[in-house]
Amino acid sequence: MNATPTPSFSREPSARPTAPDARAALLANPGFGKVFTDHMVTIRWTEGTGWHDARVRAREPIALDPAAAVLHYGQEIFEGLKAYRTGNGVSLFRPEQNARRFAASADRLAIPTLPENLFLQAIDELVRIDADWIPGGDGSLYLRPFTFASEAFLGVRPSAEYLFMVIACPVGAYFKGGKKAVSVWLSDDYTRAAPGGTGAAKCGGNYAASLIAQAQAMKHGCDQVVFLDAAEHRWVEELGGMNIFFVFDDGSLLTPPLGGSILPGITRDSIITLARREGRTVREELYGIEQWRADAASGRLREAFACGTAAVVSPIGEIKSAHGDFVIGGGEGGPVTDAIKARLVGIQRGEIADTEGWVRKVAGL
Ligand SMILES: *Cc1c(COP(=O)(O)O)cnc(C)c1O
Repeated sequence: MNATPTPSFSREPSARPTAPDARAALLANPGFGKVFTDHMVTIRWTEGTGWHDARVRAREPIALDPAAAVLHYGQEIFEGLKAYRTGNGVSLFRPEQNARRFAASADRLAIPTLPENLFLQAIDELVRIDADWIPGGDGSLYLRPFTFASEAFLGVRPSAEYLFMVIACPVGAYFKGGKKAVSVWLSDDYTRAAPGGTGAAKCGGNYAASLIAQAQAMKHGCDQVVFLDAAEHRWVEELGGMNIFFVFDDGSLLTPPLGGSILPGITRDSIITLARREGRTVREELYGIEQWRADAASGRLREAFACGTAAVVSPIGEIKSAHGDFVIGGGEGGPVTDAIKARLVGIQRGEIADTEGWVRKVAGL
């Protein structure tokens, strides 16, 4: 399907865009994922034609046949990335990595691959038309590309029709209350992903399966869940939507290895690169829950943090579980976590030199 010629975008600006003062009021306190911009991108795929009908148009509800395959079998993938207002324009952080991962997720879910240049173009088109929605300061424009099976058909096989869309929302901090460390619930009874499953794909189904554990975490007063491996219920994998790092007393870092059941985070990859660049040892190794508990107790483990595009870097202060709770360091994060976050955010916002060539300016802004 990659052979499909790249369709050109039709641009149909909204006839009723949000008034500037109403937009300013929304941007003052956008929260996360609640406020949406005026436009969206849609590109259709049908068997035989491939990707076609690329449009940037007013954001509005879409009509869907009640038999649309996604509503029954969950054939859907998504991505998440941010556009930042920088001193001299608007930038994206490693968007080609999102395009590549989106293609890998598509393969796993038997969804036709969107050519990576078309993915990137769709992002640029939406950022340009909704540029007035990009907050300044600590905020950013969160972009959500996704593809789902739209064919009206209840048989079980890959759909013959898909819709790719991009929507956008201005966002502030992901965890309310800013810097405070998060607490995590260690899930004993549920796992997120198993060998051979869809753990490495960014698909809605993984999230659907994790929600009950997330609800359990909240019932226990925790912000997030941390999942263990499906086979032995022993090895730390990741949170519901973020990867995890451990910081030791010798300054080294450890993060669980990508083995097919962990989502290959772009934030994770960037942190590994930056930490090694500044001379830290970073091990991608299995880390067991008994070891975690023992290292926290002995003080060998100084800090732990979760990372992902939405929340960037969040210190983990406390772990709660059916087998007892424990605290990491003073329970408030620490200097290594803070330094890594500052470095990454600085690069993303154009305040620190981009030595890795990760920042991509959106043309025309
Ligand atoms: C998206 C996601 C992450 C983080 O990936 P980033 O590319 O860093 O945003 C981690 N875990 C899961 C399950 C995810 O869906």
